[in-house]
Amino acid sequence: MTVEAPKILNRLTDRHGRTINYLRLSITDLCNLRCFYCMPAEIVEKLPHSEILRYEECVEVVRIAASMGVSKVRVTGGEPLVKRGVVNLVERIAACTGVKTVALTTNGSALAKFAPRLRDAGLTRVNVSLDTLDARLYRRITGRGELNDVLAGIDAALTVGFAVKVNAVLLPGLNTDDLEPFVALARAKNIEVRFIERMTFKHDDDYFTQDQALDQLSVNHRIKPLVVERPSPHVRLFDCDGARIGFISPRSQPFCDGCNKLRLTPHGQLRACLASNLHVDVRKILRRPHTDEDIRQAIRQATVLKPHSGPWNTEAEMWRVGG
Ligand code: SAM
Ligand code: SF4
Repeated sequence: MTVEAPKILNRLTDRHGRTINYLRLSITDLCNLRCFYCMPAEIVEKLPHSEILRYEECVEVVRIAASMGVSKVRVTGGEPLVKRGVVNLVERIAACTGVKTVALTTNGSALAKFAPRLRDAGLTRVNVSLDTLDARLYRRITGRGELNDVLAGIDAALTVGFAVKVNAVLLPGLNTDDLEPFVALARAKNIEVRFIERMTFKHDDDYFTQDQALDQLSVNHRIKPLVVERPSPHVRLFDCDGARIGFISPRSQPFCDGCNKLRLTPHGQLRACLASNLHVDVRKILRRPHTDEDIRQAIRQATVLKPHSGPWNTEAEMWRVGG
């Protein structure tokens, strides 16, 4: 039987010639943790419930974006697994014509409980954020997290067959001694561990670079760049004595040239760049009588707003925009 390819209406290309095929959907501004570099310890006002997009509104945007060539959707937050009904949302996203991959970024603390249901709903990839393998330091960084819950989440995700990646933000003076344990984790579990340069929207904090991390690891390991069939534009991969490691280095090696993303915030702002607060208010359109073409137009507008890079918005709130 031949299956007809979905019709793509007006494939999305921005003013800089980049094809947009990836949507990051931040479904909540709430989180059970308080990673100090992401979210203030004292929660600032949470978004009123009425301002948060309902799942049917998110799915409508995904469905229309998929008809324009968006084939990958990542559900993020805040912490997506604290939001009720997330499994059903994943199922509805996976059912949208044109969506080939549904992925999740999570802090992993509730992943053990959700992994089987998420797999059955159509999720295929999980990125688990974990900055240290030391339980005390983990609590210090996250304010309240339990390392064992995250490790159990990673194991459960692997058991049900997800492609799992671990993302660790490099925090100078805190977790740079964790590079070796993370390499050991990558090897032991045969997963990719990616080290992320800390982004600070005010650009006034210290950060540890990809080169510093590679220099540190080179003392004990042979490290070679890895060439893969379908590389992610924002990740640089290396083989580290048989362990697969990656770097996401927005500060020392920006990857804006290959950026293929749009973002939808919990309160319905369609943003084309993490660094910029330029956006289209798609919620306003969703909540008045509208047609698919109105939403398509909003998606096109957001794409047109996409800057080549920055300038960095100093008020960005990572837990709201979705990392
Ligand atoms: N709560 C989920 C989690 O932690 O995976 C999803 C949302 S969180 C905002 C997504 C990612 O953004 C996490 O990997 C987190 O470490 C990363 N992140 C948050 N603030 C960051 C910052 N200032 N610099 C670099 N990465 C950051
Ligand atoms: Fe929560 Fe994720 Fe931000 Fe940590 S990084 S505070 S887990 S949203």
